[in-house]
Amino acid sequence: MIPLSVPNLDLEIVDNLTDCIKTGWISTGGDYIKTFEQKLASYLKIDEVVGVQSGTAALHLLYQYFEFRDCEVLCPTVTFIASINPLLYVNAHPIFMDCDDTLNMDLDKLEDFCFYECEFINEKLINKKTKKWVKGIIVVHIFGNPIDMERLMNIADIYHLIVVEDAAEALGSYYTKGRYKGMFCGTIGHAGIYSFNANKIITTGGGGAIVSPDKKLLDKVRYWSVQSKTDPLSFVHDEIGYNYRMLNLNAALGVSQIDHLESFIKIKQENYQFYQKQIETINGLTLLPYHSYARCNEWFYSVIVDGYQETRDELLQRLQQEGIQTRPLWGLMHEQKHLKDYQTYRIEKAPYYRDHLINIPCSTNISMNEMKFVCEHLDIEEEPLVSIITPVYNSARFIKETLESVLNQSYPNFEMICVDDASTDTSADVIKTYQERDKRLKYIRLVKNSGAAVARNIALEHAKGRYIAFLDSDDLWDKEKLKIQVRFMKENKVSFSFTSYQMMDIDGNCFERVIKAPEKITYSELLKNTIIGCLTVMVDRRMVGDFKMPEVRDSQDYATWLQILKQGHVAHGINQNLARYRRVNGSISNNKLKALRSNWKVYRKIEKLSILKSSYVFTFYILHALKKHLLLR
Ligand SMILES: *Cc1c(COP(=O)(O)O)cnc(C)c1O
Repeated sequence: MIPLSVPNLDLEIVDNLTDCIKTGWISTGGDYIKTFEQKLASYLKIDEVVGVQSGTAALHLLYQYFEFRDCEVLCPTVTFIASINPLLYVNAHPIFMDCDDTLNMDLDKLEDFCFYECEFINEKLINKKTKKWVKGIIVVHIFGNPIDMERLMNIADIYHLIVVEDAAEALGSYYTKGRYKGMFCGTIGHAGIYSFNANKIITTGGGGAIVSPDKKLLDKVRYWSVQSKTDPLSFVHDEIGYNYRMLNLNAALGVSQIDHLESFIKIKQENYQFYQKQIETINGLTLLPYHSYARCNEWFYSVIVDGYQETRDELLQRLQQEGIQTRPLWGLMHEQKHLKDYQTYRIEKAPYYRDHLINIPCSTNISMNEMKFVCEHLDIEEEPLVSIITPVYNSARFIKETLESVLNQSYPNFEMICVDDASTDTSADVIKTYQERDKRLKYIRLVKNSGAAVARNIALEHAKGRYIAFLDSDDLWDKEKLKIQVRFMKENKVSFSFTSYQMMDIDGNCFERVIKAPEKITYSELLKNTIIGCLTVMVDRRMVGDFKMPEVRDSQDYATWLQILKQGHVAHGINQNLARYRRVNGSISNNKLKALRSNWKVYRKIEKLSILKSSYVFTFYILHALKKHLLLR
């Protein structure tokens, strides 16, 4: 089973725990508590934090401190229940607000609620409907994605709302722009909390922390957390108290975990990137983005399932059976049995996310193979999207035939991206006529002639397909080309393939000889060879990752194949004649000599081979090239 989110514990922790046990400091006293609090405070760039037994306990103490009793508090309906339950402990009344497309509270609606549904009387925001005092707001940075605190604090300022930041999921996220640049989620409102439950980004087993710029508040909640003990000897208690203080055993875990927080965040971000690249090529799945105004901890990965081959629930169930633990969004707060009767305000988006979201495995100790496994089971498409990359320069004479050979493919799911390298003939008009008929055709025009490498790279940037294929604007494909090649690649789990092809003259008359694709070509074999026809190549980006062509004027395709095979991929040949390459210059002309020269450059400049090695492979290359071009007739 690949779990959704599990702790990443190192062995140093065992030493700390042993220490607790040997010294007997396993409860609410001991040095680890202080050390952990100090480490956390210094990480957050604040003076002080108060460690408690859970995030829930932290919120309870804050709601008590702010005297929310009998008042109303604005809350998200999209959150974990722990944000809300402590409001009921103190007899406060939640009002549930909608989320926006980041899953955080919709601030437009928050503003509207305060403005239209309330009156501001004697410095208090009064709910017109209930006549109750709307005293505070609970903000939750859902899945570690920071809400726009600048805007939120402005609204809170206007209406004198107390802001409690539930940053249970957002430890490590901080703003990189605006008024709060450099400040961490949780440290901006009147008070904030973190949780160190086992599934959070760092864990103490169970635990939480309270932060606030208000020293008086911190003293008070710490006092409450130890049963409001005023005199430790004679057990005098001046107020109601709680047994909420963090335990030394738990803090002992935290002291070690916090040292790994930054590296955990880095892993979360890298894994997010990996998933992002895979998932963007799957129809009907979208990975929710994180805000760019902050450095986010990227704690959880949320995939929206909309227009996918299965319903969200079918997908959840299938993944479960395949050993991948996922889960939907939490049940909405305003729909929970004990919360149903509280007021709600224009909840429109949250139900959509309740029905369309899944969270996929995101533990920091997940392996690359496990992530690949997850992606393979997300992608069940029979016919994944193929992006066809076609640079165009003054091909009005040939392009009609080229376009038709693509648009008539028996394989339906492709996009053809024609990048017009500033043609001066009527190529653009021809493409546009076809584009009106077939939406799979995309047209991009460059203002300046930049060469095929640049044009292909621009097309690669726009390409959405899992598979990338290349076709120049005067070459042709067999009707079955894509179908045969995609099936071959999927069935054999091949990352790079090419096919046999034929050459034709300028008028489309084919030469007899077929250039046969060998079964396999490795990097070192390719150095000596020219057998791979660009027009026959197909690359699986899921396996190879994004790639670009080196921006040289010639032989850039050859350099690209080398670049990919060098990573250890093997090019697999399909020995079926599926494409036709147009030789515009019928003889071995200047062009061919130029090609030889640029190949030499690829060896020396891009592959950085020694002169000796370059000469060695070059000899083979020339022999192969002669065979290919001279023996045609
Ligand atoms: C985990 C979590 C909490 C509370 O955490 P515990 O430490 O488990 O009590 C509160 N709010 C949110 C949003 C959480 O995800």
